[in-house]
Amino acid sequence: MTSVPCDIRAIRAALLGWYDAHGRSLPWRAGPGEAARDPYRVWLSEVMLQQTTVPHATPYFLTFLTRWPTVGALAAAPDAEVMAAWAGLGYYARARNLLACARAVSANHGGVFPDSEAGLLALPGVGAYTAAAVAAIAFDRPANVVDGNVERVMARLFALESPLPAAKPELKRLAASLIADDRPGDWAQALMDLGATVCRPRTPLCDRCPLTAQCAAFTGGRPERYPLRTAKAERPRRFGTAFVLFDDRGRVGLEQRPAKGLLGGMLGLPTTDWGLPDMAVAPPIATDWQAAGTVTHVFTHFALTLEVSIATGEGDLLWTPVEDARAGLPTVFRKALDRAVERRKGVGTP
Ligand code: SF4
Repeated sequence: MTSVPCDIRAIRAALLGWYDAHGRSLPWRAGPGEAARDPYRVWLSEVMLQQTTVPHATPYFLTFLTRWPTVGALAAAPDAEVMAAWAGLGYYARARNLLACARAVSANHGGVFPDSEAGLLALPGVGAYTAAAVAAIAFDRPANVVDGNVERVMARLFALESPLPAAKPELKRLAASLIADDRPGDWAQALMDLGATVCRPRTPLCDRCPLTAQCAAFTGGRPERYPLRTAKAERPRRFGTAFVLFDDRGRVGLEQRPAKGLLGGMLGLPTTDWGLPDMAVAPPIATDWQAAGTVTHVFTHFALTLEVSIATGEGDLLWTPVEDARAGLPTVFRKALDRAVERRKGVGTP
């Protein structure tokens, strides 16, 4: 670690002052220093923002708030409507957890979110990060809110030489060392904002940062070097076949995936299981299937190569106009459908 005196008070004063002047204005926030923050908005935004960006999540947030302005309204919403409104945000298990949590708050807490980290953590689908974020931002509790942005700021501020992911507990400890009872909600948001807008992953904008005087990585001259990372093992590869069956009315045959498992409960194309390349192939109907090429898609834990087979015919499937199917399918199936449509038009190479 580069030797820079760690003056916690100076760090806090500089960052909170910066936040007062430069904090992002976001629709789920009260302004800097304002006390009133709606826990429903904070919780909804935090669930949506996991694994996606503020610009992508914002229109979804505003739509949800218009359709379901309170946690009680969301709890009473039909599952299918909420799932459809969520389509495009990905990680669909999160939408199911969102509903489970709203219903628990409504049924067990009189429609009022618990105001402590422990109380929030006991809600269904609320993990350690979300509980800490809602406790800090909505209830001004001194909770340690550590996401990837905060980890990066800590790694640079302290020039931590241990690589991620093993360094996570140490980064959390460093983040905890900066928390105080004074404005904990603003502090959590100030760190998030600094990581998102100034201390950016590849190109930190140190000339705009309020912490240069205290930042060990800046002093060392190579802030972008942090956080260090252990080289990642390559993702395992899986293989499968997607069957794209068209009828003569411009529709494609879909099926509903089982409720549990990857993309559970979503619409999809019929496929084989996803495993090794030599797995047996069982199409949904016996007909003259034509090869239409392959598509690839990278999931969190594996990379998938799908052979795309196309045919025209009838079968016991959910027949959906192709454009509607494109709009509602998860990305992996949309890629396969696009491949099949191109092949049908004679554009693609089988
Ligand atoms: Fe990040 Fe640069 Fe600020 Fe250090 S000085 S916290 S590296 S932006």
